[in-house]
Amino acid sequence: MVFNLHPEATLITTSNGTIIDCNKAFLEFYRCKSKNEVLNKSVLDLIAKNDQSKIIEVLNSRCRLTNVEVNFISADEREIPAEISVNFIRDSREKITDAILSIRDISERKRILEILKRDQQMFNVLMDSIPDAIYFKDLNSRFIRINRPKAIRLGLKNPEEAVGKTDFDFYSEDFARETYEDEQEIMKTGKALIGKVEEVRSKNGITNRWVSATKIPIRDESGKIIGLVGISRDITDLKLMERKLEHANVELKKHIEELQKVQEELKRSNRELENYTYAVSHDLKAPLRAIRSFASFLLEDYKDKLDKDGLEYLKRIDAAAIRMNEFIEDLLILSRVGRKFMEAEKVDLNNLLEEIAQDFKPIIDSRNARVIVNRLPTLYIQRVWIKQLFMNLIDNGLKFNKSETPKVEVSCEEKTDQYLFKVSDNGIGIREEHLNKLFNLFERLHSSEEYEGTGAGLAICKKIVENWGGRIWVESVFGKGSTFCFTIPKKYGIGVEGSG
Ligand code: ADP
Repeated sequence: MVFNLHPEATLITTSNGTIIDCNKAFLEFYRCKSKNEVLNKSVLDLIAKNDQSKIIEVLNSRCRLTNVEVNFISADEREIPAEISVNFIRDSREKITDAILSIRDISERKRILEILKRDQQMFNVLMDSIPDAIYFKDLNSRFIRINRPKAIRLGLKNPEEAVGKTDFDFYSEDFARETYEDEQEIMKTGKALIGKVEEVRSKNGITNRWVSATKIPIRDESGKIIGLVGISRDITDLKLMERKLEHANVELKKHIEELQKVQEELKRSNRELENYTYAVSHDLKAPLRAIRSFASFLLEDYKDKLDKDGLEYLKRIDAAAIRMNEFIEDLLILSRVGRKFMEAEKVDLNNLLEEIAQDFKPIIDSRNARVIVNRLPTLYIQRVWIKQLFMNLIDNGLKFNKSETPKVEVSCEEKTDQYLFKVSDNGIGIREEHLNKLFNLFERLHSSEEYEGTGAGLAICKKIVENWGGRIWVESVFGKGSTFCFTIPKKYGIGVEGSG
């Protein structure tokens, strides 16, 4: 009964392995219903072919053996890993009569070992395939295990070489002390260190790279801290880039400052030049007036004393003085553009253009011309200058025009952040190679005999538009007509009257 109720599966065989008896635990282990299924069989018949030699060896050894691993093939033909211990029973003459085989099912243990092995494999792959350096340290900050990337960083051929060593064996004294203190603090407080940027210094004190270090305490089952795991990511390239960027930023700032200085200087000298032009033009008017006055005195008082040539010369002096006055007037206008004293006001361009058309009425009527104005916006702007701008462009459109029915059309398109104005004519047009020159001061494509003017009008227009932050240009087909375009930023706009 004791044998039958024994919790370990047990077989009794003859000395050569024929089964004489088995207990209940064995029937359960072997998954059979009655003893008859195994009695008188050889124990070898119950065992996987590959393991049969082991049993033969065990039986032949004739001495007590423990924990021999074999695979049983159960009654329902399943493989059951087991551990067998053998004891021999001897008679009074020490002759072996029977063998007792105690069998332990180790399938659960095998399964767990398998899982552990797989986990270990995965862990090893993770450790060595990740480019970050990973290490485990004990409570004294000594390496317990490191991965391959860490070994490479430490200059070791084999990760095992690091076991038992500390940072003091590889890095400069001050760097190793810093990491040691960090780690001791982590293991004392249990608080992890995440992403600390460290400047790694080698034994000779030279910084050779930067890392982002994360260190986490490790606890045993009872929650006691037993060490730490560290992961350090090399961020040297990032740091170098950051430095380069910082350097470039400093340089950029320097350049910007220099540029600002130059701009300031340019503004200042421009202002000076404007003031100078203004003063000189202004001062030139007085002697010019004197020349004209004396010329007219001469004409009146010495008319009889001068011959025909003399009179002609005098007239030419007067004409030249008049023309010079025109130049001076234009210079004065040009130097006034952009001066601070001009106040902005609300200007409805539709009204303004009506006013301009009235001013041109004599020319329009005499030349059978038309000035067409499309719907225009209302701006908050310097009235004098916007009027000057349209006057110059419309004047040119009518002047440089040989059509029987000269036509000038003014229109405006509202863009995202600016107004685009167009003043087009059906005049003589401009050759492509001259398109850019027109806006230069005193630049003319025609003689003053052919078309009167000074060549300052478009330079004034350019200065007015640019002063508001806009742009001016011309598009033209020679012989067909020209379109002068200019933009004014939206910030000057109040809206298109009656739009919507
Ligand atoms: P001005 O009208 O006093 O000659 P501008 O500066 O207004 O001076 O014009 C410069 C030159 O550009 C003119 O002399 C003329 O040759 C050319 N130009 C200007 N506007 C037109 C136009 N609408 N059509 C053809 N040529 C033009």
